[in-house]
Amino acid sequence: MATPTIASGQCLCGKVSVEIGVPARWAWHDHSPASRRAHGAAYATYVGSWRSRFRIAKGARVIARFKDEAGDVRAFCSGCGTPISYERKRSPQMVNVPRALFDGGTGREPLYHIALEDSPEWAYRGERLKPLKGYPGVLWTGPRRRRRSGLEALFER
Ligand SMILES: [Zn+2]
Repeated sequence: MATPTIASGQCLCGKVSVEIGVPARWAWHDHSPASRRAHGAAYATYVGSWRSRFRIAKGARVIARFKDEAGDVRAFCSGCGTPISYERKRSPQMVNVPRALFDGGTGREPLYHIALEDSPEWAYRGERLKPLKGYPGVLWTGPRRRRRSGLEALFER
């Protein structure tokens, strides 16, 4: 089988699909407060693509955009709210796409972390988990999560 030259991704409702050239430029985990809010998640993982290798394959008409005070633009599906892209004013040649939109590979592993110092105390940091009795499929840390400053836990071992 030939190596794919394009990676396709889509939003939750399927109205929007995007394509990027493979391999992507890079990939990273973004722990900044803005991306945390925009995704409603502890952090966002992005794949950066050259703008020339990014395209909206389907659903351009249902994409809504939000421009923040810094001039960065976040696009999302107006049908289901899925984040579609994040374009930073200071990197106009790049389009950043949430990694989770793609089922398959993008040619880059997310090896980098941005704004890790902004990661919230409640983010999961790989603590040891055990099954919660009576709730199949639910794991937990136990009655008391080990109290440590956030970054301390990340750098131990
Ligand atoms: Zn959608």
